[in-house]
Amino acid sequence: MEEACHRAGRPSQQVRLMAVSKTHPADALLEAMEAGQHLFGENRVQEWQTKQEALAGKQVEMHLIGPLQSNKTTRAVETFSAIDSLDSLRIAARLESTAASLDKFLPVLIEVKLSHETSKHGLSPDALPSLLSGLKDFPHLQACGLMTVPPYSEDPADARPYFARLRALRDQNLATSPKLTELSMGMSHDFAVAIEEGSTCIRIGTAIFGNRSYPQP
Ligand SMILES: *Cc1c(COP(=O)(O)O)cnc(C)c1O
Repeated sequence: MEEACHRAGRPSQQVRLMAVSKTHPADALLEAMEAGQHLFGENRVQEWQTKQEALAGKQVEMHLIGPLQSNKTTRAVETFSAIDSLDSLRIAARLESTAASLDKFLPVLIEVKLSHETSKHGLSPDALPSLLSGLKDFPHLQACGLMTVPPYSEDPADARPYFARLRALRDQNLATSPKLTELSMGMSHDFAVAIEEGSTCIRIGTAIFGNRSYPQP
């Protein structure tokens, strides 16, 4: 991170490190916390709930970075500090309603889909202005920036145009949404490129916790 910031001529305090702990046990989070890490990302509402108890009383900032289904929005508001994967006004309306009832303020990032892969979640860039204007009616939510996951490629340089595109989209919308400052982009294999392209938060799983093993169905 330091090297990439240096290359890009950016102060390293401009980039936060999020530890992505999906599939890893609560012990792995505790170990990371002992090393000074407080910002984490999880993909699933239920998975985070199973770990939460083990971390009770700890200072942890947990963001949701995976797709959010409408039947999980209440739990999501209750258990996450922020939602970094918002991609529809319909889900936003549900989040607002729970956030209002809990009197909780919830920062959100909008996940933008910049490739044509069918498996990727996220909002089409064309729909961004209308989502941002819709969010202005929701006082308990604040759109703080954009998030994206580019298509996987062996060569991290292939991700550069996607990162540049996300930054341009943010810049285009800053005039009407001045709080839209964050860019969550970059993962274990391409975070250096993302930092060079303006990332303010990199999401690192494998490079911190090792390979993930998914249970076989
Ligand atoms: C799993 C995941 C990451 C972390 O990926 P690594 O390649 O393990 O660093 C980052 N962002 C999202 C949205 C993820 O689902």
